[in-house]
Amino acid sequence: AGTLYVVATPIGNLGDLTPRALDTLRTADAVCAEDTRRTRQLLAHYGLQRPLLALHEHNEEAQAAQLVARLQAGGSLALVSDAGTPLVSDPGFRLVRAAREAGVRVSPVPGACAAIAALSVAGVPSDRFVFEGFLPAKAAARRQRLQQLAGETRTLLFYESAHRIEESLADCVEAFGGERHAVLARELTKLFETVLDGPLADLHARVRADADQRKGEFVLIVEGAGDDETARIAEGRRLYARLAEHLP
Ligand code: SAM
Repeated sequence: AGTLYVVATPIGNLGDLTPRALDTLRTADAVCAEDTRRTRQLLAHYGLQRPLLALHEHNEEAQAAQLVARLQAGGSLALVSDAGTPLVSDPGFRLVRAAREAGVRVSPVPGACAAIAALSVAGVPSDRFVFEGFLPAKAAARRQRLQQLAGETRTLLFYESAHRIEESLADCVEAFGGERHAVLARELTKLFETVLDGPLADLHARVRADADQRKGEFVLIVEGAGDDETARIAEGRRLYARLAEHLP
């Protein structure tokens, strides 16, 4: 049987495609892409023209069986997403699962990932961290999610887009307190790369005051709750549990 290669592509700077990724894209029988138009442009930049197959959220389940059959027949496929590492807040896990279930070899060609790139320059405790991906789009669900994370002691990583960054920062201030240390990494590896750090309230104020700081793509990193905070939240839970005994 063939191999399914899961290939990371750049998150901005096109110099970040690894030589092995280039080689894999050149030699695979076909490239499965989230958006074939974007991937065609990316490949053209490296002087490649390859057969492309669309694999996105809406057709992945249906396509997976066909692609696995192709792999079983001996073909090799490269899976890419629009940017960074496939499956990380991107499509691909259904195909990878189907391939593994069928006993097909799945092999990584690692490279850029926005979350890890941001963590590597954040200067926050990074031996334990939680990747939360995108927060819910609806305000109520987003606030609830953040509330649930308020006592988390590990470093928190979020993906965010330009049109929601200000709101999300405001909600983080509400849930974690304005004093909590955070890092906002914007447009990593691109022309307007900016990494801001400080208390959440300050970051929110800077983003609100400066429209340029709301442009592009973001990774928001929030330090975990300290011991004081964990103790405070635990105390709150204890009080609530005692109170709940007396509630109807
Ligand atoms: N698979 C990708 C990866 O490995 O990072 C993530 C794909 S997800 C659909 C896109 C999100 O990743 C953006 O909304 C942003 O939060 C983050 N992102 C991607 N490129 C970025 C960059 N250059 N700088 C900061 N964040 C970025």
